[in-house]
Amino acid sequence: MDLYCKRCGEPYDYYHIQHEITATERRRYWDGEGCPSCYGKTVDKTPFRAHVAGALQDLFGDDVDGLAAEMEDAEQMMGSSFWE
Ligand SMILES: [Zn+2]
Repeated sequence: MDLYCKRCGEPYDYYHIQHEITATERRRYWDGEGCPSCYGKTVDKTPFRAHVAGALQDLFGDDVDGLAAEMEDAEQMMGSSFWE
């Protein structure tokens, strides 16, 4: 299951975010400051999936499993528009 950056919408494997990035990168990621791809860079347009990820994170809090499962459902429901 994937998680999505709340700034740029970049997809990341759940395991990567929880175990393979540094603690600082992880805090920035969850605080919405950016992922390893976009932190410190200008993001011209925050994609819809990034807004969805942010809203669902507010809803699920520390339940990262629930968040990842819900994002997978959102991707299936929205089809190609998920990636616009
Ligand atoms: Zn990002």
